Amino acid sequence: MPFRIGHGFDIHPLVPGRRLVLGGVEIPGARGLAGHSDADAVLHALTDALLGAIGAGDIGRHYPDSDARYKDRGSADFVRETMVTVRARGYRVANADLTILAEEPRLAPYLDRMRANVAELLGVEVDAANVKATRGEGLGAIGRAEGIAAQAIVLLERAP
Ligand code: MG
Repeated sequence: MPFRIGHGFDIHPLVPGRRLVLGGVEIPGARGLAGHSDADAVLHALTDALLGAIGAGDIGRHYPDSDARYKDRGSADFVRETMVTVRARGYRVANADLTILAEEPRLAPYLDRMRANVAELLGVEVDAANVKATRGEGLGAIGRAEGIAAQAIVLLERAP
């Protein structure tokens, strides 16, 4: 197949006393995301999109919560390791598009750094790695700022 597409979704609860790390960027504030690793929902969604594109299951299967090796682990490692598999299968990333769903904090000041991180992890130019954010407009768990979610879509192409 010349192209493969993958989608990823992740959501974590916002809780006091945790760091908030999104797209590999630490964002100062009173609350962070609960989780076994660093709970970076953006990089988790991205990892799932990559795994989906190569038909390799999901992040829970490759990096289970039950495994102490992944406790407080930086989620960039999950993307890096998954990219090794993507390349081994003969593919490279054509582009990726990520959406963060968060009522708070305001993410606009951090999106460019997230984008640079994502581009570096995926081995693409910055214009092939888009990171955007939208609010929940007061609706549902996201709108009540109970958690932060992220979606990712990646397109892989056969490496020459
Ligand atoms: Mg997760």
